[in-house]
Amino acid sequence: MEIIASTGNSSLALIYIGKMSGDRLVELGESIQPPKPREQKWVLLISTLFGCPVGCKICDAAGYYEGKLSKDEILDQIDFLIRKRYPSGEIPCKQFKIQFSRMGEPSLNPSMLDVLNELLQRYVAPGLVVSLSTVAPCGTQAFFECLHEIKQEKYSGGHFQLQFSIHTTSISMRDQLIPIRKWDFKEIAKYGERFYTAGDRKVALNFALTREMPVDADILLSYFDPAIFLIKITPLNPTYRARDSQLTTYLSPVSVGEDNPIVRKLRAAGYQVIVSIGEVEENYIGSNCGQCIRRHMQDRQSLRRGYTYAVQEYG
Ligand code: SF4
Repeated sequence: MEIIASTGNSSLALIYIGKMSGDRLVELGESIQPPKPREQKWVLLISTLFGCPVGCKICDAAGYYEGKLSKDEILDQIDFLIRKRYPSGEIPCKQFKIQFSRMGEPSLNPSMLDVLNELLQRYVAPGLVVSLSTVAPCGTQAFFECLHEIKQEKYSGGHFQLQFSIHTTSISMRDQLIPIRKWDFKEIAKYGERFYTAGDRKVALNFALTREMPVDADILLSYFDPAIFLIKITPLNPTYRARDSQLTTYLSPVSVGEDNPIVRKLRAAGYQVIVSIGEVEENYIGSNCGQCIRRHMQDRQSLRRGYTYAVQEYG
């Protein structure tokens, strides 16, 4: 991988554009959560596909698709970010998260499973938590069966965070937002119940809350056991595609409070709810959503609250 550009700042988040075989580009990144120092919490953001064929209406990785990254191309991203800060490969961070949630739906790339099998041998990282976010496409049963085995064997006891991005409890709106055939709530619940064992992190149901799409606690309760599933809520990031889809965030990215009617209802239903507002500056850097930089280079039209950091040549 050749790093060709970067943006952001090291006191919050840095995003890089890497050039792989065939001149195909990926984004990769790292972030911390001020005021916590890096040694308390460090997060890597890793791509698994060149673009994404899923086409979610809120995601800037969705504009195109040029194939899957190989195992080595995924590991190269991780290696670049780790060796830059910790050349020995010993990572002294209390929480060290590797999130496969940048460009690409990870379950569409079987090489992800090889990466997960190899990762633990490459570094000394006692704080490692792997986080995999998925929209649960149909046809990925074999991937998820294998993922379950790997988690049981290598990442039990809280070293794995599985997240299903579902965004709304309206079936028709979920279909519009994530326009592929995918598992229904019953299938997600069934798999999550098998996946989770005592000592694991709960399986997260992710919602990028919008004003336009409902979240109904009673519908969630009829499928998802609060003892196994938690709810993670974020603002809708100011992506180009969210703007084009005329979707607006329910949570203000500058609000500091968690108290709102949806969160109250979900908590009253018994769910653990994590409200992850993030840093406003991350929107300017574009570290929140896949493929922002490349899209930014293609589309110079300015967004009011996003993507204002300049992309610098690297090296
Ligand atoms: S949100 Fe994930 S699955 Fe959807 S288009 Fe973006 S990368 Fe693909």
